[in-house]
Amino acid sequence: MSTIAWIGLGHMGAPMAANLVAAGHTVRGYDIAPACVQAAQARGVTTVASVAEALEGAEACFTSLPMPQHVRGVYDGPDGIWAHAAEGTLLLDTSTVDVETSRWCHDESAARGFAFVDSPVSGGTAGAEAHSLTFMLGGAPGDLDRARGYVQAMAGSVISCGAGTAGIAAKLVNNMMLFVSMMGVAEASQLAEQLGLDAQVFYQVADVSSGQSWPQRTWYPVPGVVPTAAANRNFDATFSVDLARKDCSLAVQAGQTTGVHLPAATLALSQLDELIAEGFGGKDCTLVTKFASPDGTLRGWDGR
Ligand code: NAD
Repeated sequence: MSTIAWIGLGHMGAPMAANLVAAGHTVRGYDIAPACVQAAQARGVTTVASVAEALEGAEACFTSLPMPQHVRGVYDGPDGIWAHAAEGTLLLDTSTVDVETSRWCHDESAARGFAFVDSPVSGGTAGAEAHSLTFMLGGAPGDLDRARGYVQAMAGSVISCGAGTAGIAAKLVNNMMLFVSMMGVAEASQLAEQLGLDAQVFYQVADVSSGQSWPQRTWYPVPGVVPTAAANRNFDATFSVDLARKDCSLAVQAGQTTGVHLPAATLALSQLDELIAEGFGGKDCTLVTKFASPDGTLRGWDGR
């Protein structure tokens, strides 16, 4: 069993680190938020007061941080990972970042003699708790094999996507598909309502027909249809508008860089922006459904 450093013990990081502990590893965790540190401690993570301390004796170092700038900040500088990691420490970032930030992590790690693997995840907090996440890995073949050994205790699927940044590219493209297909589910749910269809009956039809999709099965935005939908809980976040906005904007940005036309993703992004402007950044991203409603009201949504 190994000693593993873990930086960022939030909604995803804490349960993922706990699953490494449950698999028999020693995890040395660091977070700037005291509440997150305490919660991780309660899950068996050995918490420490700095990145440098987290790296003491570590063979691998994971990061799970909110935004690209946090990843850059935690890697670089005199208090950062590169300054304190021992030779041979494998570096893995599970955060969702832009391709350029991931490329920077690869290049700057290599320049300092470290192996870096982009290791983003899909499956949300439920997948993190249930160690059923999909890991999308990008890096050199030998490093991918090493990474696979560490991530398997947290994963349902581990897919080696290719060279450096292939994992994060797959993650951004996948999530762009998610938000575009969620727009379809949102509009379908409201048209079905207005045409007088019973929500449960229409859901059953779609579930075995060509309209079926992951957001339809998991997030159908009408209360009482699927237990995992935020519509059952006044659209409290399972996947917040703020995080969805970040992922969607990174995909749209990648489209601009590559010249790929993304009108549907651009529309999805504008709806998420509108929700944020209305003060709903902390609510669930399936609240985009209100843009399809004839009068902006939704069953299961109290407007706050
Ligand atoms: P989160 O905000 O709950 O957790 C991030 C943690 O990082 C916080 O506890 C914060 O205090 C800590 N942090 C910030 N700056 C730090 C620093 N300098 N040093 C140490 N700790 C620092 O976010 P999350 O939901 O756990 O998501 C983490 C990453 O995983 C994000 O990039 C997100 O896009 C991605 N992701 C999230 C989900 C999801 O469903 N929540 C799913 C897949 C991927």
